[in-house]
Amino acid sequence: MKDKYIKLIEEINSFYNSSEVSKEVNSVTPLEIRDQLKKYDFKRKINFETLFDDICEMNRRWNLNVTSPRYLGLFNPSVSEQSIIADALTALHNPQLAVWKHAPFANEIERHTLKFLGDFIFEKQDFFASFTTGGSEANMTGILAALGYTFADFCKDGVLSIKGKPRIYISEYAHHSFEKIAKNTGIGESAVYRVPVNQNYELNIDLLNSQIESDKNNGHIPFLVVGTAGTTSLGTVDALEELVKLCEEKKLWFHVDAAWGGAAIISPKLKPMLKGIEQADSITIDAHKWLSIPMGAGMFFTKHHEVIKNIFSVKADYMPQRTEDVNEPYITSIQWSRRFIGLKLFMTLAEEGIENIVKRIEHQYETGQYLREQLKKRDWIIVNPTDLPVVCFTHPKIIDKRITTRNILESIYQKGCFWISDIHYTENDSGLRACITSFKTTQSDIDFIVKELELIINP
Ligand SMILES: *Cc1c(COP(=O)(O)O)cnc(C)c1O
Repeated sequence: MKDKYIKLIEEINSFYNSSEVSKEVNSVTPLEIRDQLKKYDFKRKINFETLFDDICEMNRRWNLNVTSPRYLGLFNPSVSEQSIIADALTALHNPQLAVWKHAPFANEIERHTLKFLGDFIFEKQDFFASFTTGGSEANMTGILAALGYTFADFCKDGVLSIKGKPRIYISEYAHHSFEKIAKNTGIGESAVYRVPVNQNYELNIDLLNSQIESDKNNGHIPFLVVGTAGTTSLGTVDALEELVKLCEEKKLWFHVDAAWGGAAIISPKLKPMLKGIEQADSITIDAHKWLSIPMGAGMFFTKHHEVIKNIFSVKADYMPQRTEDVNEPYITSIQWSRRFIGLKLFMTLAEEGIENIVKRIEHQYETGQYLREQLKKRDWIIVNPTDLPVVCFTHPKIIDKRITTRNILESIYQKGCFWISDIHYTENDSGLRACITSFKTTQSDIDFIVKELELIINP
């Protein structure tokens, strides 16, 4: 075997179980890194071994290790072993998935994987699904589909054909990709209406209802409601079933953004929390969050196959002929040249088995419960009403302004042995946020983190 590949295997073996979170991420400056990169002028060739060691060393020093069991962060997971190998194979074979005829096997693997996961949502119903680069692309696909479905001339004449101001409704706590998508699709940021939440931090349906009615009287055309299943800051789930009912009544497209929380669908124990998702018009779920797959792996699901065809179809003479009984990816999705995203999920499911993947999800759920209990025992106050493993908490000393969450985070980041973030859960209140996002996080990691927090708050 070539020495180059052996180096890679050695690095995988040595890094995979590293629990170090960050060495110098908090203190490094852009100039320091730029200085180190000056030796790479690309004129002088660098010996592979030196290059490889240098890259690994700098990667470890200057990247937050989101795969650490002690990174309780922003939905970025520890990755499965199979997915690392799958990504290397994908780079090696470099299949082009744009057309089925170029990569029949890769395309069928993706279809097989999406069918397996989609069946947990839709059970016996038919659906269309595709892999995306992430949740943002999947959300964008949902909004485009809703525009194409609602406005007959949208595909041909664009937003100018719409006789009024199109409007979408999302919760105050929904993801900010929707504002970006609104700008990019041409409906504009002001098309997004953020509905306040109720006392459970769920989209307030009464307010939504009255806003829709008053908007209709003021030249707006409501066309889409988004329910979030697992909000980014608080992990709360909107009342999906009630939103379904309202959307049916008002004839609006219903998109569920379950980028992180959607993975719960495979667990019989957690699935009830997502009740109603099966009736959505379109759904976003990221494999690169709770399903422990490396980044660049989102999924989009919809019951409206025809709408998808309308939105993305074009004629390109140079593309190979279409194959029967196949959704050609380049005319059913945003991307054209297309990476083999599905292999990492397929190989993980195939070797681990679904039972093990469900266990990993439930383990993270239980570890979240454990963290909640340990915090409560020590005077911390839990502020977000969710069962999912996003734990937001504050402390009497934070409430009394004797210490700020920023001060606490500075102490944590300086030490660099674990990672959490902070949130503003109301306009005036901030708290800390810890999300169990690694299947490797154990109760003893939690004990360690809670003890460290204790040392900071009660020095
Ligand atoms: C992460 C996230 C997104 C964005 O997805 P990306 O994969 O980062 O593009 C959208 N919505 C929610 C609820 C998320 O958690």
